[in-house]
Amino acid sequence: MSLKQLCRLTALVLGACCTRAETPAPPRPFGLVVHGGAGVILRADLPAALEAEYRTALQAALDAGYTVLADGGTALDAVLATVCRLEDSPLYNAGRGAVLNADGVCELDAAIMDGRTITAGAIAGVRHIRNPIVLARDVMEKSPHVLLSGAGAEQFATSLGYTLVPNEYFQTERRKAQLQQARDAEAKGRPAAGMPGGLRRQPAAGALVLDERKFGTVGCVALDRAGNLAAGTSTGGMTNKKFGRVGDSPIIGAGTYANNRTCAVSATGHGEYFIRAVVAYDIAARMEYLHRPLAAAAAETIARVGALGGTGGVIALDARGNIAMPFNTPGMYRGCKLSTGEDRIELFEPGR
Ligand code: ASP
Repeated sequence: MSLKQLCRLTALVLGACCTRAETPAPPRPFGLVVHGGAGVILRADLPAALEAEYRTALQAALDAGYTVLADGGTALDAVLATVCRLEDSPLYNAGRGAVLNADGVCELDAAIMDGRTITAGAIAGVRHIRNPIVLARDVMEKSPHVLLSGAGAEQFATSLGYTLVPNEYFQTERRKAQLQQARDAEAKGRPAAGMPGGLRRQPAAGALVLDERKFGTVGCVALDRAGNLAAGTSTGGMTNKKFGRVGDSPIIGAGTYANNRTCAVSATGHGEYFIRAVVAYDIAARMEYLHRPLAAAAAETIARVGALGGTGGVIALDARGNIAMPFNTPGMYRGCKLSTGEDRIELFEPGR
């Protein structure tokens, strides 16, 4: 090759490199997915006015989180903003409007996880924390621990200057009626039909089983402009729960998980099964070790829950902005708002 030819080739290569460098990188996707619980959510059972209320509350929560992300905020802040909105709504089983335990008291669980740092914070069985997800984040950021429970968690909150609220703040008439239904059904030895959270004894297994028609737990997974993932879940657990029962929501890896390498997950459903199937981490592990795409991993894990006899669903989001919202119940309150323009709320099974 002559010197002239070599120079021309070099110029061509450099030119190609420069052209490539000048091509603007595609914008990074960002957005969030939210759920407000899964269960027997049928169009026929839901009056139009109530359906509109559920949708409005979910949309307001999505919008709050999306605004954080659009303004360049972190996935963690977006999860917090979204979950706080749903905790403040009396419609959902988290914060105000949470279900009542067997003693007629609201006991709240929540968790949050940062997929960038793999740090997490959670609280279980608190009775006086207005926004449990906020305290979960404080456990993550201001304590050396991951999970605090009951009076100790509230003592930690007080040490940070929180104002404790009376338990009555969380209690609504609707939840009191549901507890009464569950108690009546329990006294008759059968689950209450059409209501969330009857407690049922299965004679064959000799075990207490929670029968849920509808779960109202709330959760959010978010991806920010920097490519970081976060997940958060908040709940009152299950109606008529006893003996300090804690569900999957505050258990890292069961109801809540986030890792930038794979995905962010928040679950809702019959917590005992979700703990046993280690649901949120199972989805992430399928992606990491089996190289399964998000949707396949999430569907496979929900199938495992179903095989155990459990019901519920998850919302999941990966670092590329792919989303999945599988569930094995007749419905799940869910929605997403993404930088691609996708912005939707769904309540029922597809096609129903
Ligand atoms: N998973 C929650 C629990 O078992 C209940 C729910 O999702 O509504 O505590």
